Amino acid sequence: MINVIRQLIRPVGTTDVVVVGAGHAGLAASYFLSRQSIDHVVLERGEIANSWRTERWDSLKLLTPNWQSRLPGFEYAGEDPDGFMSMPEVIQFIEEYAKYAAAPVKTHTTVQSVQRHLDAYRVVSNRGVWHAKAVVIASGACNIANKPRVSEAVPEGIASLTAHDFRNADQLERGGVLIVGASATGLQFADEIRKAGHEVTIATGEHVRLPRTYRGRDIQFWMHSTGLLNQSYEEIDDVSRARGLPSPQLVGSHDAPILDLNRLSDNGVKVVGRLMGINNGTAQFSGSLRNVCALADLKMRRLLEAIDDWIEHNPVLCDAPERFEPTRVDDNPSLLLDLQNSNVRTIIWATGFRPDYSWLDVPVLDRKGRIRHEGGVVDMPGMYVLGLPMLRRRKSSFIHGIEDDARELMAHLADYLQCGAELPGSRAA
Ligand SMILES: Cc1cc2nc3c(=O)[nH]c(=O)nc-3n(C[C@H](O)[C@H](O)[C@H](O)COP(=O)(O)OP(=O)(O)OC[C@H]3O[C@@H](n4cnc5c(N)ncnc54)[C@H](O)[C@@H]3O)c2cc1C
Repeated sequence: MINVIRQLIRPVGTTDVVVVGAGHAGLAASYFLSRQSIDHVVLERGEIANSWRTERWDSLKLLTPNWQSRLPGFEYAGEDPDGFMSMPEVIQFIEEYAKYAAAPVKTHTTVQSVQRHLDAYRVVSNRGVWHAKAVVIASGACNIANKPRVSEAVPEGIASLTAHDFRNADQLERGGVLIVGASATGLQFADEIRKAGHEVTIATGEHVRLPRTYRGRDIQFWMHSTGLLNQSYEEIDDVSRARGLPSPQLVGSHDAPILDLNRLSDNGVKVVGRLMGINNGTAQFSGSLRNVCALADLKMRRLLEAIDDWIEHNPVLCDAPERFEPTRVDDNPSLLLDLQNSNVRTIIWATGFRPDYSWLDVPVLDRKGRIRHEGGVVDMPGMYVLGLPMLRRRKSSFIHGIEDDARELMAHLADYLQCGAELPGSRAA
C-alpha cells in the first residue's frame, strides 16, 4: 500500500531529453545538448562513472594510452601521455569531465522503465517520472558479464565467477583456476592469477592477437594514424559480426611488447581449446586450438603488413618492421579436464559482456535482445543509443571514440526536436 502511495506521489518532471547513464557516453551527449541549449537531464543509477567504480577488477588499467583519453572539449593533461590510467584515475578523469561539461546529472536514480507515451516518452525511475520528447540510451555495453549455458554444469564445490565478480587473486581459494576466454580480460586474469601462484588453464576460442608496441610505437598510435579506428560502420562488410568480435589481447602496460598465449605458456599457464561442454564433471575442450591460433596469427600479420604499407606512403619516425613468433600450440593439447578430481577450485567466465535493456519497454530489440538502430538512431522516433561497439565507427565504444558519434547523433536529435518530424531510421550526418 505504502509503495502504491509512493508511486502516486512521485514527482513528475518534463524535459526535452532524458539521457540514461552518466558514463563518458552520457556525459558527452550532455555536452553537445548543452551547447545547443537543449533542456535535458542525465539519470544515473549509481555515481558518475559507476561502471568503472563497480564492475572492474583492481589491477585493470586502460588499454588505450593517456594521449588517447579525450572527450569533447577535454583531454588528458598529465605528464605521462604514453602511460595507462588505473581505475581511480579513470573515475577521476570522468568526474572532472562531468564538472567541465556542467552535466545535469541526477545520481542514484535508476531508470526502471521507458515507455512511449503519445508522441513522447515516459521515463520512470526510483526517484520520479520524467516526460521527454527524446531519450538517449547511454547505459553502457557491458552491464552484464556473459556466462554461457555450460556454466550450469559446473560441479558443486567449484566457485564460478564472472569478470564482474573477479577483483583480485586474493579472493580465490587455493588451487587451480580454469579461465574460459582468451581475449583482453581472460588473458589479464590468467597472467595475474598465475603470478599469484595458482595453476591456471585458459580455454581459448576465437581471439584477436595484437602487440602492445610495433616498430617502437604503441599499437594504438598505428590504429589511429592509419585511420583504422575511424572506419565507418557503413564500410565494414559484415558489421553485425564485427560488432560481436572479442576485444584484442592487450594489457595497459609497456612491460613487454606483447602479452599473448606464448607469454602465458612461458609462465606456466596451460593453454587449451574452446570449452565445449562439461559432462559428468569433466570439461571438454575443442580440438580447434591450432586453427584458432593460426587464424589470429594470420590476422595480426595482415594488420602489421597494412601498417608497414601505410608507413611506406606516410613516412614516420619509427623502427624497422618486425614479426612476432607464431603462437606455439602443443602437438596434443588436452581435450579433457576432470574438474571433480583435479585441483581446479575456481572457474572464471571471461566470455564477454552485454548490455542490459530490461528497463526498456519499447519494441526496439531484435530477437537476440540487441537494440535495432542505424548508426545510433534507434528504430523509434526520438530515441538514440551511444557507446556500443562499432556503433558508427570502429572507435565507437572507446572513450576517445565518443566525440564524433555524440556530436553527430545529438545534431540529429536537435533536428528531430526542431522539426517535430519523425525521422526514424534516418541517418545522422
Ligand atoms: C573491462 C573493460 C575494459 C575497457 N577498457 C577500455 C580502455 O582501455 N579504453 C577505452 O577507451 N575503453 C575501454 N573500455 C570500453 C568502454 O570505455 C567502457 O565500456 C565504458 O564504460 C563505456 O562507457 P559508456 O558511457 O558507454 O558506458 P558506462 O561507462 O557503462 O556507463 C553507463 C552508465 O549507465 C548507468 N546505467 C545503466 N543502466 C541504468 C539505468 N537503468 N538507470 C540509470 N543508470 C543506468 C550505469 O550505472 C553507468 O554509469 C573497456 C570496457 C571494459 C568492460
